[in-house]
Amino acid sequence: MSRDEEFIAYMRAFEASTTHLGSCAACQNDQPCTDGAPIDAEFIARQDAWNERIRTERKQP
Ligand SMILES: [Zn+2]
Repeated sequence: MSRDEEFIAYMRAFEASTTHLGSCAACQNDQPCTDGAPIDAEFIARQDAWNERIRTERKQP
């Protein structure tokens, strides 16, 4: 996956997570529902991947 693709995937996951959270009372109460759990997991995975990329880039001279 290219840097751009990774960032876009991260933004999409963020958007999906925000959209779901906005319409789901259970998830707003920190009780992820069966729909929200995978969306949240995806967002965290994408966020981790992106943060890892930034961290790696900062190590470059
Ligand atoms: Zn939910």
